[in-house]
Order: sequence, then C-alpha cells, then structure tokens
Amino acid sequence: MTLTDLPAQNRSDDTIDKEINKESNKESNKEINEELLDFLQKCPTSYHAADTIRKILLGEGYEELRESAPWTLKKGGRYFAVRGESSIIAFRLPHSAPTGFMIGASHTDSPSLKIKVNPEMTGNGYIRLNVEKYGGLIMQSWFDRPLSVAGRVVVRTAHGLESRLVRVDRDLVMIPRLAIHMERQMNEGQTLNLQKDLLPIYGLTGSEGSFMELIAREAGCAAEEILAHDLYLYVRGRGAIWGAKNEFLSAGRLDDLQCGFADLKGFLAAQDKTPEAGAIPVLAVFDNEEVGSRSRQGADSGYLSDILHRIGNALSWSDEQFRIMTVGSFMISADNAHAVHPNYPDKADPVNRPGLNKGPVLKYNASLRYTTDAVAAAVFKEVCHRAGVPCQEFTNRSDILGGSTLGHQSMTHFSVSTADVGLPQLAMHSAYETAGTGDTLYMSKVMEVFFSSALRNEGRDCLVIV
Ligand code: ZN
Repeated sequence: MTLTDLPAQNRSDDTIDKEINKESNKESNKEINEELLDFLQKCPTSYHAADTIRKILLGEGYEELRESAPWTLKKGGRYFAVRGESSIIAFRLPHSAPTGFMIGASHTDSPSLKIKVNPEMTGNGYIRLNVEKYGGLIMQSWFDRPLSVAGRVVVRTAHGLESRLVRVDRDLVMIPRLAIHMERQMNEGQTLNLQKDLLPIYGLTGSEGSFMELIAREAGCAAEEILAHDLYLYVRGRGAIWGAKNEFLSAGRLDDLQCGFADLKGFLAAQDKTPEAGAIPVLAVFDNEEVGSRSRQGADSGYLSDILHRIGNALSWSDEQFRIMTVGSFMISADNAHAVHPNYPDKADPVNRPGLNKGPVLKYNASLRYTTDAVAAAVFKEVCHRAGVPCQEFTNRSDILGGSTLGHQSMTHFSVSTADVGLPQLAMHSAYETAGTGDTLYMSKVMEVFFSSALRNEGRDCLVIV
C-alpha cells in the first residue's frame, strides 16, 4: 500500500506540540465545541442524529438517494442514503476513475432507557413509565436529573403508515433515588434492578392516559392513530465546557456523537480538496452499535456493502473492478476510547494510558475485538502526522476484557483494512459523559486529511509513504 495524494509535509513532533498550544487553536476549539454542543442538542436519539446529519448534507448540496429506486450517479456528484431513519451513509465521487473507498465510520446511538409499549404504570399515587435498557448504560447516572422523551412514532394516515420523529422539548420525567435514611448501606455499593429501581416518574394520579396523548400532540396526530413507537429517555440539558482552562466538555451522548460530528466536519472540510482522481470518501454513521450492530441499518448488516456495491453498479464497474477497489480501500472506525481516570489509574494498562486533549486514540486488541493491526495503525498514524495532530495508543489491561466496536462487525460484510480509533473520554456510557475540548478539533483535522487521501495497494501489506 502506498499512501498517496496527501499534502507533502514532514512535521516533527516538536512542530506538532507547538501547533497544539497555539492561541488560534484555543479559539477554534471553543468554536467547534460550542457547535458540537448545539449538534448534541439536536440529536436526542439516533433518529434525530441521522436527520440532523441529513439536513446538514442537504444544505451542502448533497442529493438524497432512495434505496428503493435506481441510482444514476454523476462524476463529481455528492450523495447520501439513509436507512431505517437512524443510519446514514454519504459519499462524493471524484471526476476520474476512483481508486477505492476511504470510509470514516461512527455511530448515532447511545445507551439509554427505552419506553416499552403500553408504558403507563399507576400505583401509590404516581404514574410511572415502564422502561427497559438500551445498551450498557451506567444505571446510577440516570437518577435525580431532569429527563425527557424522544424517538419516533408510526402513525396511520389517509395515505398509509407514516413514521414521524418526536421530541418532547421540556423536562418531563425523573428517576428519584431512595433516601439514604431508608438504605444506610447505599454508598457501600448497591445492586440495582432495572424493573424496580429505574422506572421514571411521569405524573401523579389524575393524569392517567395522558402520556401517549402528549406524544401524539408532538407528532401532530391523535393518540389512537399511533400504531407503534420507538421512544427513549434522554438528558435534555445542554452540555457544559468547564475546568481551570476550559479543558473539559461534558454532555450526554458524547459516545459516539463526538466522533460522528468530528467525522462529518472533516468530511465536509475535505469537500473541495478531493483530488481529481482520488478515492471515494464515504461517511458512514450507523445505528445500534450499543446493542451489537445486528439490525437492518447497523454496522453488522449489509447496509455499507449494499451502498458501495450500488456505487460500483452505477459506475458500471465489473465484479473484478469492485474487488480491486476493495483492496485499495481503508476504514477508520471512530468510537470513543477510555482515557486514564485519575481516581482509578489502576484500571488502565500500565503503559498505554491515553489522556484528554492529547489527540485521537488507536485501539489495539490481540483477540481482534479492535481491528487495528500494524498496517492499519501505521496508516492512521501517518494521517495524524500529516494533519499535524498527535496520536495516542490504547490497550486494555491484560486482565480486563474491554469492549468491541464498529470495525469488528463491519469487517464481516466489507472486508477492508480498518483502524479502530476513538476520542479519549471519561465515564463512558454515563448519561453525562466527559471528554477533552482539544480533541474534537484534532479528530476533524485528521478526518479532513483522511477524506482527501487515497491508498494504492501494491500487492502486499507494506507501506511505502510517498
Ligand atoms: Zn461507542
């Protein structure tokens, strides 16, 4: 493989350090993180995240393709296709023959509590909502904070069934904790029961039957017209930038919308830099990563592979050409990573301990729960280097299993050299997570260089940087 079409730069680590501390970067950091907080506000669920990205792309002149219709693609064209209302894949075509796909993947969903069908439960003077968990959430983090409800409903209309996004934009429910006086051992560790301890309070008796009416008003229909719903609790408050030098950023859904947002920024910034004969930049933001990606629109589905094959068909590639393109392709699977926690430093690997504001993190795992191998790592490091951005490395402690992510699942459908990376953060899967304000800009810069680049495979997994 040869990494080509990158700006000819040869930065020393000293140059990178100087760039990190530049005043102009501090201003850019403030700007991009305020924009990220606004973006998170618009994305209470995966449906809203895909819809927000869709609207941004439409504003940038991208054409929406339907999977249900034939595609005619033009050289130099900009396109996207949404699946399941919650995953989105966008791409741009170069003017001459493409060399492969440069794919930036991330995910739209975050751990939450999903509202079950027939949600109201009455008793003891209260109305509560019946919920179940979505993903590996930290249950404690959902207590004692104002929450609201968002998602989608499917409505019966005069012209058939119609899906509508809903979002209750006011504080609506709360999960209060038991007083410590009634459970003195609470701070010594408590086992929580999802069916008992995590049910949010919605109202007092007298409001029975009003929850679905409230949702129907948001959807612009009558309650009896709602046939089904995918509704979730979400943290409604805007995130915060904080710390002695505003080093930190806390908000709901940073995993993985911080990467999704930075990927999108990089994808758009690279728009006018894609070389005439480069690769096809592909932005893929999948739903359902938090529950294993096995949905029609998840990374462990045919979605990405279907879209890439349809691009090949529309460009009249032979099967042979498609396979050659695959070998010349690369994926950066970006899903947030664990920074070392100052209260629990013993939980981190003794050597590979990412810090906040020190750049994106390459993730390694010998059992390939992360896909990164030496070749993929070297390509990502080279892209970081050319972007003038520092790069960190993460391994789990050898006695801690750790997680898995998109690259691993996607690989079974579209087998391409993949680096699993992420932005360092604390409190992963809390309702309110913490990351570094310097890292969003770093990731967007890395992705800008990545989406402006191409790989040439010379028949063996050996890198010759030109
Ligand atoms: Zn994630």
